[in-house]
Amino acid sequence: MSTRSIDRIIMPPSPHMVGDGFRVHNFIPGSVPGGMERTNPFIMLDYGSKHYFAPSNTPRGVGVHPHRGFETVTVAYQGRVEHHDSAGNSGVIGEGEVQWMTAASGVLHKEYHEREFSKQGGEFQMVQLWVNLPAKDKMTNPQYQSITRDMIKRVELPENSGTVEIISGKFQGVQGPATTFTPVHLQNAKLEASATIEFSFPIHYNTALLVIEGKINVNGMEEVSKDQFVLFRNDGEEFLFKALEKSVVLVMSGEPIQEPIAAYGPFVMNTRDELIQAFADFEAGKFGRLED
Ligand code: MN
Repeated sequence: MSTRSIDRIIMPPSPHMVGDGFRVHNFIPGSVPGGMERTNPFIMLDYGSKHYFAPSNTPRGVGVHPHRGFETVTVAYQGRVEHHDSAGNSGVIGEGEVQWMTAASGVLHKEYHEREFSKQGGEFQMVQLWVNLPAKDKMTNPQYQSITRDMIKRVELPENSGTVEIISGKFQGVQGPATTFTPVHLQNAKLEASATIEFSFPIHYNTALLVIEGKINVNGMEEVSKDQFVLFRNDGEEFLFKALEKSVVLVMSGEPIQEPIAAYGPFVMNTRDELIQAFADFEAGKFGRLED
């Protein structure tokens, strides 16, 4: 039994636009010293803090782009995201839902605000997390896991003090629905004011929190507010936090993939040669076709 201490608390960096629909703060790798290696298997985290988008007949979003070598995990907290890909897949990620897309050998896709949401306008809040793949799986076939609200596993905390929603990995022995290539715990802790919760993950797993709503105290030491990110050290297993007000916290912990990382834009591979190959395959149309 040993406490996992806080490495650093990171304030949300200035937002930037991805396309015209995603106003995001980049925590990983841009705000973490040591970058992707430090947080591996989490190699990118864009957080769209709550932002009002006015009604628009043309859905805002990001046009056709490729991915290869990892998974994109989109968590919609408010608003709805629609996607289309080069294999003919499409769908909507509704509020409280998750899309776990294994890009692997490569997809072309586009991501937009869902049409009806766009017409009405409204508050939009989402997370996009990229999860690395081991070398042996980087060129596996693409696939989707559409994780709807009814699929997400829930653990109710004592005395109605909150709920843990398990997307992947385990909490108190309850396994979430997402299938992962390496151990990845991704969970939303939804706590009433003054509730305390404890988590435990293997010491070498890279572990972080993103406060989505409210304010918490971590390990009885540090206050962390909405839109702030907590990176833990790898010096213990357990940590706890107390909700100082009604709070939602995204908890992520994953086993590092001990392989070299070669990353450029939407491609995350192991070697520079593999990156060059990814560009060549993209230019040659091997990721398929999709209308913008
Ligand atoms: Mn994408």
